[in-house]
Amino acid sequence: METFKTIIEPFRIKMVETISVTNLEQRKKYLTAAHNNPFLLDSDKVMIDFLTDSGTSAMSANQWAGIMQGDESYAGSSSWNKMFAAINHLTGHEFVLPVHQGRAGERILYGYLGGKGKTFISNTHFDTTRANIEFSGAEAIDIPIEEGKNPALYHPFKGNMDVVELEKLINEKGAKNVSAVILTVTNNSGGGQPVSMENARAVSAICKKYKVNFFLDCCRVAENSYFIKLREKGFENKTYEEIAQEMFALTDGSVMSAKKDALVNMGGFISLKDEAMALACKNLLIITEGFATYGGLSGRDMEAIAIGLKEVFEPDYLHYRISSTTFLGTKLKEMGVPLMWPIGGHAVYIDAKALYSHIPVDQYPGQALVCELYLAGGIRTVEIGSVMFGKYDDQGKLIPANMELVRLAIPRRVYTQSHIEYVIEVFEKLMKNRDNVKGVKITEEPLFLRHFTSKFERL
Ligand SMILES: *Cc1c(COP(=O)(O)O)cnc(C)c1O
Repeated sequence: METFKTIIEPFRIKMVETISVTNLEQRKKYLTAAHNNPFLLDSDKVMIDFLTDSGTSAMSANQWAGIMQGDESYAGSSSWNKMFAAINHLTGHEFVLPVHQGRAGERILYGYLGGKGKTFISNTHFDTTRANIEFSGAEAIDIPIEEGKNPALYHPFKGNMDVVELEKLINEKGAKNVSAVILTVTNNSGGGQPVSMENARAVSAICKKYKVNFFLDCCRVAENSYFIKLREKGFENKTYEEIAQEMFALTDGSVMSAKKDALVNMGGFISLKDEAMALACKNLLIITEGFATYGGLSGRDMEAIAIGLKEVFEPDYLHYRISSTTFLGTKLKEMGVPLMWPIGGHAVYIDAKALYSHIPVDQYPGQALVCELYLAGGIRTVEIGSVMFGKYDDQGKLIPANMELVRLAIPRRVYTQSHIEYVIEVFEKLMKNRDNVKGVKITEEPLFLRHFTSKFERL
């Protein structure tokens, strides 16, 4: 095979969205007006938006063409038939329910299976997953492998679940009280780290032994398959889609936010093997989301999902996708920026506590870096640390999060190599000035999910 050092974006651009280029003076003004919280910035004041990879993908010409063919019939839409066929082909699951996004599927399925006294076990529950489980009255327990908790340590499948702990927990709780085991691929909250097929097989075997439901949170299943083909023995000659199909075959069902690997801006689904469970979920779907052949979606959305779920497994796309995230992370690492290692699929996570070791955690080094990145280069990112997860004790003293991270999430098919190189250059500037950066103070905060709306003052 021919190999080149330069991996090109395997697409060309026929429609553009203008980025408004700003200068430092303007950005100072905008950030102050946004109370030093980039969530409060208008998107036209952002040059590179790395806030999230969710719902921010660029759709292909094929997807846009599909949109024009969306069948908006209330019942029996042909667009639904296409979406169903794509999901059925991928998952092998017989029953599929469309929902407007991932959390709607979580609320239906986990709300139905959950309730007081029930337990869910995951490598790491994503925050909406945990919230929906806890809202039902059930508990959500995370059991990533030990290596997954150490940011700097290399492990090829840091997203794996601790299977010894899994069996212990099922015995402890009693199998009938365990509503489901959920494997999140790739493990978003754990740094976008992949899960191996070997681990999925082991989890599946334990679930079968104890007759516990095994579901995949499969938002990034294509990206996970890329890592399996690259790093796990025995998968070199399988296609990415075959690898994903093999993983689905181990499960009883899945929930997907199509805003990630289905390459669309809105959508999701539940897929299930069990007819009775699917029927119960369908009834809940009709009450809150919509009829069973559209869920919360327009016909055109379903059309785009059906196409996106095929495009995402194209080898050139996945190779470019993961290489570009890895390129950014590797360059930053070479520059001495402390970060989560190895680089995951959809994002680079900077260890702000190590970068700004002179800033105490109660002055939020992660939020300080978020501000610096915006000021220096108009780059929008999000703190995943004590702003997001910190709590207070009785004396009002901060109980910090385990880590102070800043996530640079890369939208799919949106930015080019020069945008990534620009981000690297901004980091070069930040590294020179790292000792002079000051922390921040929270001046106003809501009771829940404070990273979205808190206001800050730079010290
Ligand atoms: C985004 C995400 C969800 C929730 O999906 P939404 O579409 O945002 O509701 C669930 N799990 C994981 C792993 C995710 O990344």
